[in-house]
Amino acid sequence: MQRYQISGEKAFQIAKLDANDTADWDGKKKEAKKTFKTLRKELAVLQQKLYAEHKHKVLIILQAMDTGGKDGTIRAIFEEVNPQGVKVANFKVPSTFELDHDYLWRVHQKVPGKGEIVIFNRSHYEDVLVVRVHDLVPKEVWNKRYDHINAFEKMLADEGTTILKFYLHIDKDEQKQRFLERLTNPHKQWKFNPNDLEERKLWDQYQKAYQDALNKTSTPWAPWYAIPANHNWYRNLCISSIIVDTLRSFTMGYPDPIPDPQQYVKQLENESARD
Ligand code: AMP
Ligand code: MG
Repeated sequence: MQRYQISGEKAFQIAKLDANDTADWDGKKKEAKKTFKTLRKELAVLQQKLYAEHKHKVLIILQAMDTGGKDGTIRAIFEEVNPQGVKVANFKVPSTFELDHDYLWRVHQKVPGKGEIVIFNRSHYEDVLVVRVHDLVPKEVWNKRYDHINAFEKMLADEGTTILKFYLHIDKDEQKQRFLERLTNPHKQWKFNPNDLEERKLWDQYQKAYQDALNKTSTPWAPWYAIPANHNWYRNLCISSIIVDTLRSFTMGYPDPIPDPQQYVKQLENESARD
């Protein structure tokens, strides 16, 4: 899955990434779904260790165009984990109070502590995406943010946070199909916002903003992965396998048990003998 990492050696061109790509898994949807379920189980085991060990901090950032599959990814991949150690932070239009502060202020409060995995559903990247596309601040302001973001993420990494960033890439036609499904499925209608169609008109500007953001902020300490996401099953497989690979690399262990647990077993046994 490393093929989807933006390395910085070669400029990432968003138009060249095929949203329909399924690479080696072409025609193997059933097998892919099975592999995904195995990975999801392994993720639950690894996350339990991460929580118990109370050492690593993991930040997973999800960004995508509307209907890109951020919510579905979270639902599918984290279905089996212990909710105590996993949190989701959603970043919506900032409140007036949030806007009184710098744009990283609300974000920093949500980063993971030891033993935690935090998933960002949208993130500080909105501040170089929607903010740029809609001219919410002048170019001189948003243009400096790539450097701020790289420095901020470097600080988090230096202080022990592992950062993985995923851009879920769908194409414009897939978005149309997904909006139509949203509008006609009573379980999904609530997700539709008429303003989404106004945003859709700005598709090309958003693609350009994404391309720049990914090229300027994919770093060794916080790499971006641009994942083909027209097929949910392939998207889930890619993202879960990158997360599981990363957690495997931690070689975690449970905290040391107390010395001589047997003495407490005896204590408890004696107690029941007395009763
Ligand atoms: P949703 O994720 O569909 O609930 O929508 C959240 C909306 O909040 C999206 O339209 C985002 O672009 C918007 N949003 C998130 N962060 C910011 C930000 N920093 N500035 C402006 N809009 C934002
Ligand atoms: Mg929305």
